[in-house]
Amino acid sequence: QYQGLAGRSTNEVLQLYSAHSQQQKLQRSSVVIQMYGAIKKRLKRDLKSLHSFALELSKDFQRQSKTYLYQVLTAVQGIQLQNEAMQMFQIKAFDLEQSLQELTERYEKEKQKRRALHNSLVELRGNIRVHCRIRPLLPFDTAAGHLVSPDRQRNFSEVACAADDETVLVKCSRPGHASVNKTFQFERVYSASESQDTVFADVAPLLTSLLDGYNVCIMAYGQTGSGKTYTMLGPQPEENLMFAIEDESELGIIPRATQEVFRLISEKPPGSYWVEVSVVEVYNNEVFDLLAKDSCGKVFGVKRDVVTSREGKSDVPLLTHETVENASEFLRLVNKGLQLRVTHPTLVHAHSSRSHLVVTLTITTAVSEDNFGTPWEDEQTSQRLHKEASCTFPQKMRESKSTSSSRASSPAQLEATEKMKQVKTRLQLVDLAGSECVGMSGVTGAALRETSFINRSLSALADVLGAIAEQRSHVPYRNSKLTHLLQDSIGGDAKLLLMLCISPDQKYLTESMQSLGFGTRARQVQRGQVKKKNFPVLSKAK
Ligand code: ADP
Ligand code: MG
Repeated sequence: QYQGLAGRSTNEVLQLYSAHSQQQKLQRSSVVIQMYGAIKKRLKRDLKSLHSFALELSKDFQRQSKTYLYQVLTAVQGIQLQNEAMQMFQIKAFDLEQSLQELTERYEKEKQKRRALHNSLVELRGNIRVHCRIRPLLPFDTAAGHLVSPDRQRNFSEVACAADDETVLVKCSRPGHASVNKTFQFERVYSASESQDTVFADVAPLLTSLLDGYNVCIMAYGQTGSGKTYTMLGPQPEENLMFAIEDESELGIIPRATQEVFRLISEKPPGSYWVEVSVVEVYNNEVFDLLAKDSCGKVFGVKRDVVTSREGKSDVPLLTHETVENASEFLRLVNKGLQLRVTHPTLVHAHSSRSHLVVTLTITTAVSEDNFGTPWEDEQTSQRLHKEASCTFPQKMRESKSTSSSRASSPAQLEATEKMKQVKTRLQLVDLAGSECVGMSGVTGAALRETSFINRSLSALADVLGAIAEQRSHVPYRNSKLTHLLQDSIGGDAKLLLMLCISPDQKYLTESMQSLGFGTRARQVQRGQVKKKNFPVLSKAK
């Protein structure tokens, strides 16, 4: 072809060349068209399958979203149901809470009613009411107290506790024996965590009784260190017995009772009540007047006697009775007396728990002849009270400053009141010596004397209670100065509250059991009905 072309003209060549290119173009475009067709076909097919895939996918998506929507709806419905149920529960819980509260209130009311009924029963039977206070475990209970955590101490050594507010539970265990739980019932049991406030709340009604005409005696019994002084006075600085006035919440029964007595008096007509105080210590079977003053007016412990009056009552002749007008005057006075216990040569003893302390508040009120002897009082009591009531006021009251507003001390008033009878009621507050039976072996001299006197006086107390319980004709009050001094409160017509104090520690188990036994026996004593003295109708008492 190229040889043939060589002979031809350029034009022809050019023509041929363009014809050839066209031919080639034609050929190429037909191929392209063919390819295009194929691609188109393929594309169409792919598009179709893609379309159907997309269709399937969207159907699938719709299906799934429907399922999810359904699930969400069910969940929402479930939540709503749960919410409703929750609300129902809340309402139910609220209702239950309310009924529980109502029940608790009713229970508390019933309990109070029951306690009041029980108290009346105790009164009717002339029983001695016994409360028991268990003090907390203290660092000195364990030799290595400061090294042992409070929890471990509890596990290790706490054997006495309050099972409820009327039951003491004691775990008695002896080496080689299975431990035995013993329970003791009392009118009220205070656990270690109960405050001075709580203890006093149960004592306060007795003070209302005091102003209503009953004699009252509150006596703390227990071994040394069991909390008698803490309960009666409050926490004491080491070997310096006195009221720590700084912390009011820690004050014990004696200062609180005085405050309460003056509060109750402030609600009565002015000048209708007088309060006198005496402070006595019984040490080695001797009675010391802690408020007696020497010729220079300095307080000076003086030995006194206890005698039985013609009416068969116990009396301490020449005992100092100081008139007080308010609680702080009382505290100052009693503190001064208590100080004597550590400074006076005949009164010095190593520990305050070696003596019995008796603080007495005498409340005197004037009763007009007309008011004397109300119909409910029986003939015998009325006669007795007439005999008891003296026609003149004590010297102290005559001497009292005429500025005093709470006393009928102006001459005119005195003259008017002297025509009246007066009735006295007495509040005796007693912090007994430690009740532990210390062995005599190895003890000599003063300590031996102390111990034997304490043992004797406390066993005399137990004997007296035993004699009254058995209704023996002779009650041996005079076997000890303590029982002779407290004769009228123990066997007479006083409302008597025995406050048992218990150390919870294992090592005091024997002493605790002894105290609990003493309390249990005291509780069973029946003394004939507690008598009310004839009080005037002049009070605006509520
Ligand atoms: P007691 O007069 O029976 O010998 P105390 O009243 O002196 O005993 O008490 C011994 C110690 O125990 C004191 O340090 C006292 O403060 C403390 N104590 C007693 N009872 C309690 C109590 N309920 N709470 C706290 N401390 C107490
Ligand atoms: Mg004491």
